[in-house]
Amino acid sequence: MTEKLSTEYEQRLLQVKQNYDYIMARIAEAAEKSGRKPEDIKFLAATKTVSYDIINYAISLGLKYIGENKVQELNSKYDDYKLGDCELHLIGHLQTNKVKQIVGKVSMIQSVDSIKLAKEIAKVSSNQGITTDVLIEVNIGREENKTGLNPDMLYELLGEISHFEGIKVRGLMAIPPICAEKTELCKYFEDMHNLFVDISGKTMDNISMDYLSMGMSADYYEAILCGANMVRIGSGLFGARSYT
Ligand SMILES: *Cc1c(COP(=O)(O)O)cnc(C)c1O
Repeated sequence: MTEKLSTEYEQRLLQVKQNYDYIMARIAEAAEKSGRKPEDIKFLAATKTVSYDIINYAISLGLKYIGENKVQELNSKYDDYKLGDCELHLIGHLQTNKVKQIVGKVSMIQSVDSIKLAKEIAKVSSNQGITTDVLIEVNIGREENKTGLNPDMLYELLGEISHFEGIKVRGLMAIPPICAEKTELCKYFEDMHNLFVDISGKTMDNISMDYLSMGMSADYYEAILCGANMVRIGSGLFGARSYT
């Protein structure tokens, strides 16, 4: 019985290794196709529901970024991650009242979508004497009942944040609508890239456009072709999620 279990576990690790190598090759291919170098594209592993030992194995393969969705799950695994030089990001929706629980623990919060949230991150960070890097999550499809900032509000939010201490905007993040056609999907990725380029051309305190985080397991290749320089991949690396 134990032998069978350990074999299954080894199979799981082997699968993660194979997926990792495959994704790295696809990222390199898409990078070159879009006139960039493979190392210009950052591969973040989305680790929701994945146990810390599997995450640590993936880090040992060379991952430089992992992202958790939920503050509670992040905190429950926090002491067990073997991060080394791998950055831990929060990529899921963040409630203002949970900001205190993660500032100082994560290298970046990718899901800032309101002035209220940005203000709280700035306040808690300032109190700790640190600056927290964030991305602005944009609801590029203007979908109702979806997190992310309406693109029309983007400049207003950036203008506000540029006056805050303790927070620095490093780029944009998006989860586009589910699209039946790749051409439709690419339009959303291109809209994001246009915003990214437009903001890059402006000079604002505390705002720099270093990361354009978009593309997941099903569409990271297209996202890179449209200008993403960070992709967030979960199931493509770790296999289908089990929520039990
Ligand atoms: C789960 C998740 C991902 C990765 O999704 P996959 O389809 O499993 O690759 C990326 N970004 C966010 C914000 C997520 O919650």
